[in-house]
Amino acid sequence: SGYHKVLEENRKLYNQVQDLKGNIRVYCRVRPFLPRQSSSMSTVGHIDDGNIMIITPSKYGKGHKSFSFNKVFGPFATQEEVFSDTQPLIRSVLDGYNVCIFAYGQTGAGKTYTMSGPKELTEESFGVNYRALNDLFHISKQRKETFCYEIAVQMIEIYNEQVRDLLTNDGPQKRLDIHNSSQKGLAVPNANLVPVTSTTEVIELMNIGQKNRAVSATAMNDRSSRSHSCLTIHVQGRDLASGAVLRGCMHLVDLAGSERVNKSEAKGDRLKEAQHINKSLSALGDVISALAQKSSHIPYRNSKLTQLLQDSLGGQAKTLMFVHISPEADAISETLSTLKFAERVASVELGAAQVNK
Ligand code: ADP
Repeated sequence: SGYHKVLEENRKLYNQVQDLKGNIRVYCRVRPFLPRQSSSMSTVGHIDDGNIMIITPSKYGKGHKSFSFNKVFGPFATQEEVFSDTQPLIRSVLDGYNVCIFAYGQTGAGKTYTMSGPKELTEESFGVNYRALNDLFHISKQRKETFCYEIAVQMIEIYNEQVRDLLTNDGPQKRLDIHNSSQKGLAVPNANLVPVTSTTEVIELMNIGQKNRAVSATAMNDRSSRSHSCLTIHVQGRDLASGAVLRGCMHLVDLAGSERVNKSEAKGDRLKEAQHINKSLSALGDVISALAQKSSHIPYRNSKLTQLLQDSLGGQAKTLMFVHISPEADAISETLSTLKFAERVASVELGAAQVNK
């Protein structure tokens, strides 16, 4: 039946993804210099497919440091190239798997560019969000003889450990609760869940979401870089022959900027925001590392972010982290700390792959 054909196809793709070493992959992307900075010195030395060398000034032990990831994208990589390696993950959502894609890095390093694209969007500059949905629609149409798919999206923001709906037209958004004990059902049942059937509809929704994020940003001084935003795509597929139902979901997460604030300068709201961001990003690192070590206790409960993603981190779920760095010399300290975080996530993944052998 169609169901078995899909399962077989599914297994093939699953093996393909497994070949890429485990369920956690880390890609590094280097932003190009922006037009007005073109004369600056780059801290990025050599890049090849999976390695990146950073040139460090004397303060950090003059010389260079190398880091390895599943993939490294240099400053000239196009949006299409960056997306092409994530395509097997998109397919697996239609096969009933859960997927998380994160953008990590300091503010200005290119997280939003990767996930959504630049402010003025063209077809070439569409980010992972649009391309992922486009693929979902495309593949679901290809399977229409055997499967009937329904796709719906939610878009929320986590700011200071509070969850808010971004897909709403009614002004200030209420605080929402996360339901994380239930294996089935939505993690944020009270956030708007909007059925979508075309990329055009999705672009309209994302504009609403981005506008809601921007409104809070002006009110609170660039809050968008200090909140996590999460676009969740829920997919339900019914096998037309057997009536069996597959459910998968994909979280596309633009994380808050990972930069550390100067401890002596941060006070009040700024300090509180920084503490919340630190807490949630390290909670995310802890969860991934506990999963890879097959620890009996996975500390999901330590942040709203990890609670939200509980069903999509671990088990059969697949995780992809895009780690972003800026090439400028004055970003070196953040660049090194970003790469260290990423290496922690990536190397535990290799550890897990060894355990599996
Ligand atoms: P972040 O979300 O990490 O704060 P942005 O995505 O807003 O960073 O990127 C900062 C600036 O750099 C934006 O003007 C963006 O358009 C530009 N930029 C980021 N990555 C790239 C890239 N790969 N190619 C061209 N411009 C980029």
